Amino acid sequence: MTNRLRTVREKLGLSQEAAARLLNVSLQSVNRWERGKFEPTTGNDTVLALLPLLAAGQVPKPCATAKREGFDIAFLARHVRGCPDCRLAVAYLTSVAK
Ligand SMILES: [Zn+2]
Repeated sequence: MTNRLRTVREKLGLSQEAAARLLNVSLQSVNRWERGKFEPTTGNDTVLALLPLLAAGQVPKPCATAKREGFDIAFLARHVRGCPDCRLAVAYLTSVAK
């Protein structure tokens, strides 16, 4: 069974340590995720999409609609589910805020 996080990480040429640092999680978390024992709290797909951005030194930006709404928390709660841009931005914010 191949692990998608491991595939993405190796494609980026990152060690588990480097990936953990970028995602602001412990090395044990990355190790567990790659062994498929735990799901990342932000969701697998978000982590998989976030890692290449972070490795490239980019910061995920919320979409124009969220900016227009002034990042209203009630709006975002409804909105992020259907918006990949905002989902990434929120995941990034929660990972750096940890
Ligand atoms: Zn959005």
